[in-house]
Amino acid sequence: RIAYVNGRYLDLREASVNIEDRGYQFSDGIYEVCEIRDGALVDWPRHRARLKRSLGEVRIAMPMGEAALTAVLHEVMRRNRVHYGLIYLQVTRGVAHREHSFPSPSVKPSLVVTAKNLSFAKNEAQAAHGIAVITLPENRWPRVDIKSVALLPNVLAKQQAKEQGAYEAWFVDRDGFVTEGSSSNAWIVTKSGTIVTRSADSGILPGITRAVLQEVLAALQMRFEERPFTPQEAEEAAEAFVTAATQIVMPVVKIDGKPIGNGVPGPIAAKLRSHFHGFSTFS
Ligand code: PMP
Repeated sequence: RIAYVNGRYLDLREASVNIEDRGYQFSDGIYEVCEIRDGALVDWPRHRARLKRSLGEVRIAMPMGEAALTAVLHEVMRRNRVHYGLIYLQVTRGVAHREHSFPSPSVKPSLVVTAKNLSFAKNEAQAAHGIAVITLPENRWPRVDIKSVALLPNVLAKQQAKEQGAYEAWFVDRDGFVTEGSSSNAWIVTKSGTIVTRSADSGILPGITRAVLQEVLAALQMRFEERPFTPQEAEEAAEAFVTAATQIVMPVVKIDGKPIGNGVPGPIAAKLRSHFHGFSTFS
């Protein structure tokens, strides 16, 4: 496998950044993950816009222009022969002697890009079975709208889910409402057929899959409500699912050990999953 590291394409085994990279020492960086499907980037313009926004919020410069960055992504995809999978890119504030405040403006941000093949069959099998989620108290900082590489609470939550035989952990805020998953946005379908997800105003990363799915819902004229919901409401829902770039619409069939609906993936999640890419852009 080949990675892009600050202007060079390197074998992954030799690809490295300096130990004083601020991403390594402070998690002082931003990342993006984009799905690759049919050899193309899915919804890349939206991911790029979110990258730009996140970087702006923490005052890191975009590492290069739009066209150059897109070209790097395509080159990484090409060199890794990824037809179906994901691309990962991260931008950190660069390399400097350790000191919390920003380094001199002459320090350039570091850009790393990797790509990997995923198993399409495995992903589809998972969607056919559905996943289990657990709930955990929200313990992240309030700026989860920034796609920061500081993911320690997310790492611990995902590990706890795994150790309990689940695939994802949903964070629950102090008012008792689900915010989002450790690496996905959370949705339910009520017994009356309304599709519900929390507003992007607070407590969540504004997911690109979430945004595209809202367009799918509008086009299919499906009932949609943007509001918070509780784990209890999820447990009593007809269906639940999560959204994320490489999972698209992934049915949730169990929450904290209790089945949702019939305990099997529901028709609405399946319908949304099948329509999703008709509303994505490919580049
Ligand atoms: N929330 C969190 C915390 C995430 O890490 C992700 C995945 N990047 C998402 C939501 C879903 O975002 P997207 O649809 O853009 O992948």
